[in-house]
Amino acid sequence: MIINADLHIHSHYSAATSPRMDLPTLAKEAKRKGIQLLGTGDCLHPKWLSGIRELEERNGIFYFKDKEEDKNTNTKFVLTVEVEDARRVHHLLILPSIAKAEELYESFRRYSPDIDSDGRPSLRLSGEEIAEHAKDAEALIGPCHAFTPWTALYAYHNSLCECYGDLVGYVSFVELGLSADSSYADRIEELRGLTFLTNSDAHSPYPIRLAREFNRFHVEDISFEDLKAAIERKRSRKPVLNVGVPPKEGKYNESACIRCYKHYSLSEAIIRKWRCECGGMIKKGVRDRVNELANCDASPPEHRPPYLHLIPLAEIIGLALHKSASSKTVTGIWESLLAEFGTEVNVLVDASIGDLHATNFNLDARVVEAIKAFREGKISVKPGGGGKYGVIEIKPRGSEEGEEIELEEEEGRGQKRQLSLLDY
Ligand SMILES: [Zn+2]
Ligand SMILES: [Zn+2]
Repeated sequence: MIINADLHIHSHYSAATSPRMDLPTLAKEAKRKGIQLLGTGDCLHPKWLSGIRELEERNGIFYFKDKEEDKNTNTKFVLTVEVEDARRVHHLLILPSIAKAEELYESFRRYSPDIDSDGRPSLRLSGEEIAEHAKDAEALIGPCHAFTPWTALYAYHNSLCECYGDLVGYVSFVELGLSADSSYADRIEELRGLTFLTNSDAHSPYPIRLAREFNRFHVEDISFEDLKAAIERKRSRKPVLNVGVPPKEGKYNESACIRCYKHYSLSEAIIRKWRCECGGMIKKGVRDRVNELANCDASPPEHRPPYLHLIPLAEIIGLALHKSASSKTVTGIWESLLAEFGTEVNVLVDASIGDLHATNFNLDARVVEAIKAFREGKISVKPGGGGKYGVIEIKPRGSEEGEEIELEEEEGRGQKRQLSLLDY
C-alpha cells in the first residue's frame, strides 16, 4: 500500500507554535491534506505523551478515533521528537513505543534540567551520544533540516561522521529541510546511501503549513516496523516519492546581504570577506554550503525516488489567479476542490488533469494549468537570500521566460508575489 507521511511537526508544547497544535485538530487537518501517517512531534513531553497514550495503539501506531468516520481513514500517528544537541544541531527521532519514549525521557532528563519546559528539548549531549541513546531505545535517528544555516548538522559540521562519530552507521535518514532537495544532497557522497525525508516541521495546523513537505512510502502495513523498513529500504518497503517546496524559494537559498539583500557568488563573498558593499553581513546560502561540501556528481543513486516540487494548494490557486492565498476567492475554490477530490494531495499529485478540467463547479482553467506547471516542473523561481524569500513564477506556455505575477489585492498592486511559507 501507498501512504503519505509527514514525520516532523511540533505540538503546542513547543516554543512558538499555534495553540491549535492539538491531536484532534492535527488528525482532522492531516486527513483533509491527504496524510495518513503523521509524526506526533514532541513525544518526550510528559503532557503531550499522556494525550497520545489515550489513543488506541497497534504495532507502534496510534489511531485517532473519530466517531463518525471509518476507522481506516482516520489519521494515524507515530511517535517522533526533535531534540537539540550541545552544538545546537537538531535531530529527529522516530520511536517504536510509549515504553521506549518513557525510557528515553528518563535517560535524557539528566542532561536537560528543563526537559519539561519545551516539546523540543535541548540536551547537553553530542550528536553521537544522542544517537547512542536512540539506538538503545530502538529509535530511528537522523539530522533535521540538515543544510539550514542555523541549528543544523552542516551549519556546524563538515560531515555526518564529525557529528555522529562511531554511531554514524546507525543514522538511516537525512531530513532535507525546506531549502534543499535530493539534487542538492546527492552531490554529497556520504549522503547518497541514506534515505531522504521531506517533512513540514509545521508549527501550525493550517493547510499552508502542515505537510507542505511530505514523504510517500510503499509499505505492506501501517506499523512502526514497516515504516522503519521503508526508511531503511528493506523487505521491499521503500520511499517512492519526496514532495517539497522548490529550494530556491528559501530565504537563505543563495548567499546574500542580510541588510540590502544583494546576492553574491561564493567566490565573490569569500573575496569580500562576507561583507557587502553596503557594509552589511553576507549570509552564506544553502546552495553555496552544498557547493562547498559537494564531492561527487549529482546523478541520483538508483534507490532515490523522484522529487516533486510543490507548494500548498491555496498558494498555487493564489498564484494562478493573482490573488492572495488567504483571499475569499481562493478559499472558496480550495473548499470546492476538496469537496470534489477529498484531499489536497489528491488535487495536487494524483487527480488526472482531465478530471481537474471537468470539475462539477466552474473551475478557472488557470488553476488547472498552474497545477500542471508544478507537476511538470515548469515553474521558475527567483532565488531567495539574506533572509528574503524567493519569488515563484509560472512560465507562460511557449515561453522560456518567467511570467511576472502581479497581485491584485491584499498585498497591493504592482508588487511581485512573494511567498511566505518558509521558515528557513
Ligand atoms: Zn529544528
Ligand atoms: Zn548590503
